Amino acid sequence: MPTSSAEPFHLQVRAARRAAHWSQSELAARAGCRQSQISEFEAGVRGKVARETVVKLSELLGLEAPGETAGPSAAAIGARARCPNFECPSNLPYWVGGQLLFLPLGTAGSGTHCAICGEVLERACPHCGAPVLAPGGCCESCGSPLVEMPGGFASDPRAWAEAQRAAVVALRAALPRA
Ligand SMILES: [Zn+2]
Ligand SMILES: [Zn+2]
Repeated sequence: MPTSSAEPFHLQVRAARRAAHWSQSELAARAGCRQSQISEFEAGVRGKVARETVVKLSELLGLEAPGETAGPSAAAIGARARCPNFECPSNLPYWVGGQLLFLPLGTAGSGTHCAICGEVLERACPHCGAPVLAPGGCCESCGSPLVEMPGGFASDPRAWAEAQRAAVVALRAALPRA
């Protein structure tokens, strides 16, 4: 039973669970997780429930799991497109708290492929599968970075980020303004 509801997935879960007359404990038992996880998940607290549990919840409740399989519906609800290529100029690298993060600048376009580098655009978090709705470098659902540099790519990620950032800024300055 595919759903095209624009409601956040955690609210869909709560509504479907109530419709099935299951308590949070019953749903947790069926999904193989703890009641406290269901409670937090339904409240919109993310990152506590594994992707496989999210899929399990979807199956149990007859919902469409967010993520790769829900690409069209993620687009339908206005999820933000992001180029997964960390070297793409549509992603501005910055170094914060000892971690390399990428801020999607919104210049990748809104089609299926990146307007700059041609990579296939993503609209869901690669970690939890939630559609990405807010701007920013991290998933608003699970807090994970949305774009990441592969481990071992740069011996000094901070220096790489500074050089790349300067290059991206220079490139943007050179582009005609929309
Ligand atoms: Zn790109
Ligand atoms: Zn996430």
